Amino acid sequence: MARIDAIVLGAGIVGTSVGLHLAKRGLAVALVDRRAPGEETSYGNAGVIEGNTVFPPAFPSDPIALLRIALKRAPEANYHLTFLPQVAPWLLEFRAASRPQQLLETARLMRPLFARAVAEHETLLAEAGAARLLRKQGWLKIYRGEPAFAALKGELALAQEFGIPYRALETDAARELEPSLAPVFRHAVHWQGVASVTNPLAVTKAYAARLAALGAVVMRGNARSLHRANAHWRIETAEGPLDAAQAVMALGPFAPEVLSPLGITLPLGVKRGYHRHYRGAGNAALARPVVDMEIGYCLAPMDQGIRLTTGVEFAARDAAPTPVQFDRLLPSAKGLFPLGEPLEAASWMGSRPCFPDSRPVIGRAPGQSGLWLAYGHAHWGLTLGPATGRLLAEMMTGATPFCDPAPYGAERFGR
Ligand SMILES: Cc1cc2nc3c(=O)[nH]c(=O)nc-3n(C[C@H](O)[C@H](O)[C@H](O)COP(=O)(O)OP(=O)(O)OC[C@H]3O[C@@H](n4cnc5c(N)ncnc54)[C@H](O)[C@@H]3O)c2cc1C
Repeated sequence: MARIDAIVLGAGIVGTSVGLHLAKRGLAVALVDRRAPGEETSYGNAGVIEGNTVFPPAFPSDPIALLRIALKRAPEANYHLTFLPQVAPWLLEFRAASRPQQLLETARLMRPLFARAVAEHETLLAEAGAARLLRKQGWLKIYRGEPAFAALKGELALAQEFGIPYRALETDAARELEPSLAPVFRHAVHWQGVASVTNPLAVTKAYAARLAALGAVVMRGNARSLHRANAHWRIETAEGPLDAAQAVMALGPFAPEVLSPLGITLPLGVKRGYHRHYRGAGNAALARPVVDMEIGYCLAPMDQGIRLTTGVEFAARDAAPTPVQFDRLLPSAKGLFPLGEPLEAASWMGSRPCFPDSRPVIGRAPGQSGLWLAYGHAHWGLTLGPATGRLLAEMMTGATPFCDPAPYGAERFGR
């Protein structure tokens, strides 16, 4: 096999974007996955490029909200009782990172990445000949009651400080944008700078095709076979062993099982989530993704139909699916938008890879020269894939990074 400079493990949106940015800088890249590109977590998201993100989702501070979750009544969150002892340390760290001062710090530390999110996708989509997948209509967040909308004050003030455009709308003005929505809400915020895609799988596949067109190899192999061979990293692939001076771990929620044997144990948790596609009843349609903020779900228009995505579930990554949140939220969702019949017999499930401080890890692997990490993108892997790819490729090639990578370093966990 020809010389390879960098092996990228994981062909989700993050690994594929890293590979593409390395190849654009002249490196010979091998993108290795046990499946075809984009078929795991990056397949099933809501397709939103959330450059508007200010605060990450937080551990609930309202005791009533917490009680509803504990009693398994909440549409926005579910959990497996038997998993609680295992996830408890992570949840405590997540709660600590959800204090107001910490959320503010996260918002500031993450801003440079979010600020580049849409522009970096636009560049890659254009180069991949896939600009048709992009929709620049923003997204609409709706609020049924006054308290939820009033609680937004701090977020909107910070958005203004960051220069993120938005419009606060009353019901009628929001329904001018989305006439199929029923007037069951009082307020909405239209985040105009947000973009979305009509098919997240097609985006990753288009980036992988572009990578191959740049001369990279896109192949099947098991990341667990990664080991050192002399001064190189070696991986066993279907086409034989592959060596390179540099390797990148972009395995999303699957990273820990490959990193642990190398002595790298970072506090990655998962927030599982589900989706299912529906036809809009009659002529009902949406022009952009819509989020029902108090109930906690998103309706995203996709090539396949209206994709209804759920909030979070705390359960072991590989435990059997328990899509109970659909039953809890469907009455509200159908009251907001006339969903027709589901288009599949069963729902899809994926696992958002999340660090408790809601920041990804992008940078050098601790204690392993030539090994780099790009994972833990939580609710924003689609959003941040290309910006991550650019940042990591700049670090790996010794170029000046477009932003300070320190907040995303693995060193912050002190392990
Ligand atoms: C319901 C839901 C809605 C979401 N909505 C949004 C949204 O609107 N916007 C947004 O930005 N984000 C959203 N997300 C989050 C986003 O989907 C993830 O953050 C993102 O897909 C993670 O991408 P990744 O490349 O890190 O991981 P993955 O897509 O999981 O890629 C990891 C790859 O590693 C491969 N792999 C694993 N183990 C091995 C192995 N041993 N050997 C070889 N290969 C291996 C897998 O096959 C996979 O292809 C959502 C997530 C969910 C669940």
